[in-house]
Amino acid sequence: MKVFESISALTQEITQQKAAGKTIGFVPTMGALHDGHCSLVARSKKENDITVVSIFVNPTQFNDKNDLKNYPRTFEKDSSLLESFGADFIFHPSEQEMYPTQSTEVWDFGQLDKVMEGAHRPGHFNGVAIIVKKLFEIVIPHKAYFGLKDFQQVAIIKELVKRTQFPIEIVECPIIREPDGLAMSSRNMLLSPEARLHAANISKALFEAIQLSASMEVDELKKYVTETINADPMLLVEYFEIVDSLRLRSIKSWDEKCVKVGCVAVKLGNIRLIDNVTFPI
Ligand code: AMP
Repeated sequence: MKVFESISALTQEITQQKAAGKTIGFVPTMGALHDGHCSLVARSKKENDITVVSIFVNPTQFNDKNDLKNYPRTFEKDSSLLESFGADFIFHPSEQEMYPTQSTEVWDFGQLDKVMEGAHRPGHFNGVAIIVKKLFEIVIPHKAYFGLKDFQQVAIIKELVKRTQFPIEIVECPIIREPDGLAMSSRNMLLSPEARLHAANISKALFEAIQLSASMEVDELKKYVTETINADPMLLVEYFEIVDSLRLRSIKSWDEKCVKVGCVAVKLGNIRLIDNVTFPI
């Protein structure tokens, strides 16, 4: 496994690998790796000759300065984990390397970046689009791997690829959960032991929502899920929406012909977690 900090060294290596006929899989991350990230790496390894993992805490996607400051950074641990998983290259650039000048790029993804995370974290998806485009321009992988844990992000990345015409296949990977159902997240390690126990009530409510969708109307279910999570004094729902998976419009009825996804953002003190489930109807 090789670690690259400079764009030019990584580009040179990747160019050589492509010239030798190798396919490249790419897994962009912000580090503090867990089994969710590892599932993406494992999938990439299975489907490509070379797997590149980037580790970069991207400042432009943080709308909250404290969140950026507190975001866990565990590079030594991450690199040993990636070595054991058989990743080929790690790209671990400095902020200066990725942003030699301040980016002024502005993206507008229409409805996709106006709702849910887009509405509650102004500028977040603009920062995501800026960094993912930069990383794609550097790596130009055959396939890039993203987790459905960040469901709205996947929709944005697919739109970005469509607009930029990158010849890159976006591979959507399922959410990996802790044994108690909590979606794995780098931010989970910031939870106090008590908050960590309560965090399991988020996915519990989402799984219950799947069951209840057979008997409750959409609005009634939205209210129920919000109230159920908020009934835990350590949890505060920022939003719970049930949207169509392509346009991210809020649905009004289960009869609508689309894949329906329930997306939630919850605060536990200063820590903000997101999760989602797909409804079977
Ligand atoms: P992050 O480091 O949080 O930017 O995440 C890097 C990639 O890992 C993103 O595509 C995430 O969606 C994905 N990811 C994070 N958590 C999980 C999880 N629990 N299951 C599957 N993928 C995940």
